[in-house]
Amino acid sequence: MNFSWNEKQIEIKENVIEFCQTTLIENIFQLEQQEEFNIEGWKKCGEWGIMGLLISQEYGGKELDTLTTIYALEGLGYGCKDNGLLFSIAAHTWACELPILTFGTPEQKLKYLPKLAKGELIGGHAVTEPEAGSDVYSLQTTAQRKGDKYLLNGRKMFVTNGAIANLILVFATLDPERGKRGITCFLVEKDFPGFIVKKKMSKMGLRTAQMSELFLDNCEVPAANLLGKEGAGMAVFSHSIEWERGFILASAIGTMERLLEQCIQYAKHRQQFQQPIGKFQLVASKLVDMKMRLETARSLLYKFGWLKQTGKSAFMEAAMAKLYISESWVQSCLDAIQIHGGYGYLTELGLERELRDALGSRLYSGTSEIQYQIIAQFMGL
Ligand SMILES: Cc1cc2nc3c(=O)[nH]c(=O)nc-3n(C[C@H](O)[C@H](O)[C@H](O)COP(=O)(O)OP(=O)(O)OC[C@H]3O[C@@H](n4cnc5c(N)ncnc54)[C@H](O)[C@@H]3O)c2cc1C
Repeated sequence: MNFSWNEKQIEIKENVIEFCQTTLIENIFQLEQQEEFNIEGWKKCGEWGIMGLLISQEYGGKELDTLTTIYALEGLGYGCKDNGLLFSIAAHTWACELPILTFGTPEQKLKYLPKLAKGELIGGHAVTEPEAGSDVYSLQTTAQRKGDKYLLNGRKMFVTNGAIANLILVFATLDPERGKRGITCFLVEKDFPGFIVKKKMSKMGLRTAQMSELFLDNCEVPAANLLGKEGAGMAVFSHSIEWERGFILASAIGTMERLLEQCIQYAKHRQQFQQPIGKFQLVASKLVDMKMRLETARSLLYKFGWLKQTGKSAFMEAAMAKLYISESWVQSCLDAIQIHGGYGYLTELGLERELRDALGSRLYSGTSEIQYQIIAQFMGL
């Protein structure tokens, strides 16, 4: 097994970090306090090609391989402190672009991917409903064929990018009696009649990412916007959730590395009892724990990346990466605050924001409990 990166891969990651540090310089404190979407940051990322890392050149993307993509995303998390922006990009990439890339017809790919890859269109997906959260396949939104259209009716919750998206993948059932086999996926544009953004959902973290409740009220979707076949929604979802789960926290590896470096610097310079606090074993052990978590989380991410790059199914590895990275991110934020003492508790240092952002990762793309359940099932339990 080879853990080294080649020169080109290292250069791409360094370029992403440099881009973030020189160009993504919006005032994150203000944006996050006002729960404002970082539209300038989004546009700059689009121009750079961040949303097109995986997309083939034919559709205007950079066509990087899977491992190089996650390495670049790690750089994005290291360089950019706006986790809300990164989360919006991740939802756009893994929950919208990737399913179109995998299941779209040539016409659908040509119509949507070039603009999604440049960030000119914003994407998302809507599967969760008031009564269908973790038990996602119990969704009740219906789709009915009427001539050359489908009519969608239902209510969707927690849709990342919901209010600002131009294109949402909506999962609905053609026939609730058919259970999972009735689920079908549709490409819904925001201007389709009956597509209603109901309410912006205010949240504790990732506040620059917009989240909304959506209503579909006889929403008219052309038959050409079926993604995959009728009844293939479960296959579309389970394929894309594997990728989403495994990779959605790639940028968090970079974030954890940045936090660790910040904490090491602080522990070396902050003096108490006439010595740097890093000399106290109880402080040093927190830093070692942060380092151990970072490296273990990184290994799980790379292992999953390698499995996907080699075309293997890795549902359990996706759950393991998601579970471990999210829990590690939360714990490392707690440690970072503790190491900084009272200063860590202050808003201006940004660590409490990092913690609030990290906590969301235990919930989206399947809660930590659901990841435990998946791993247990793969262990034959
Ligand atoms: C920041 C954020 C972004 C999101 N973005 C999107 C999006 O873009 N699109 C979208 O469709 N959805 C999105 N979601 C929704 C997310 O996928 C759901 O919140 C999640 O799947 C959990 O569903 P729920 O909130 O209904 O909780 P529930 O399913 O009601 O769970 C409540 C509690 O019960 C536990 N639980 C449930 N079932 C089990 C079980 N079998 N075993 C053990 N424990 C269990 C859960 O772990 C949790 O602790 C987002 C959520 C968040 C927080």
